[in-house]
Amino acid sequence: RESWASDSSDSVISSGSDSDGSLYKVILLGEHGVGKTSLARIFGGVEDGAEAEEAGNTYDRSIMVDGEEASLVVFDIWEQDDSQWLQNHCMKMGDAYIIVYSVTDKVSFEKASELRIQLRRARQTEDIPIILVGNKSDLVRSREVSVDEGRACAVVFDCKFIETSAALHHNVKDLFEGIVRQIRLRKDSKED
Ligand code: GDP
Repeated sequence: RESWASDSSDSVISSGSDSDGSLYKVILLGEHGVGKTSLARIFGGVEDGAEAEEAGNTYDRSIMVDGEEASLVVFDIWEQDDSQWLQNHCMKMGDAYIIVYSVTDKVSFEKASELRIQLRRARQTEDIPIILVGNKSDLVRSREVSVDEGRACAVVFDCKFIETSAALHHNVKDLFEGIVRQIRLRKDSKED
C-alpha cells in the first residue's frame, strides 16, 4: 500500500502557498462513480490524517516535487449540482485537469473523450495540462478498458496518461506529482 506521506518530510509540507506564491487549481472531471472523490481525499490526506485543509469539496495542500514545493487546490466539484453554470465555470477556472474514467466502465471511458472535447472548446488557444486517469486498476476481473486503449486515447487527447487504484493508493502520488510537473513544464517554456 503506497502511502502519500511515505517519504515523510519530503512529500508533505503544509497547507499554504507555493514558494513562488502561486496556487494551482486542479479540477477533477469524470463520470459519476469513477473515483474522483476517492482520489481527491487521498490527495488531501483525509485518510492518513495528514494536515490538509478541506473545505467542502476542495482540498488544499502543498507537496514537494523534484525538490520544490508546489501548492495545489484540488476541486472535486464537477458533480456538485447539475448546473450548467458550474460546469462551464469548471472548464474555465482550472490551471490543470484530471479526467478520470474507470477501467471497469467503458461508458465512463467514452465520457472522458467528450470531456476532453468540451475542454478543448472552452480553452481553445490554451495549452492546458491534462492527465487522463484510468482508475480502479485493482479490479482486474471486471476490467473493460485495457491499458493500451487508455494510452492510445491519451495520444489522441495530446495529454499524459496514468492508471491508478484509489483503493490500493497505487499511483495516486505519481498522479498529483505528474500534474505539478506538467504545470511547471508549461510555465518554464513560457518564461523562456
Ligand atoms: P466519484 O463519484 O467519481 O467521486 O467516485 P467515488 O470516489 O465516490 O467512488 C465511487 C465508488 O468506487 C466508491 O464506492 C469507491 O469506494 C469506489 N472506488 C473508487 N476508486 C476505486 C478503486 O481504485 N478501486 C476500487 N475497487 N474501488 C474504487
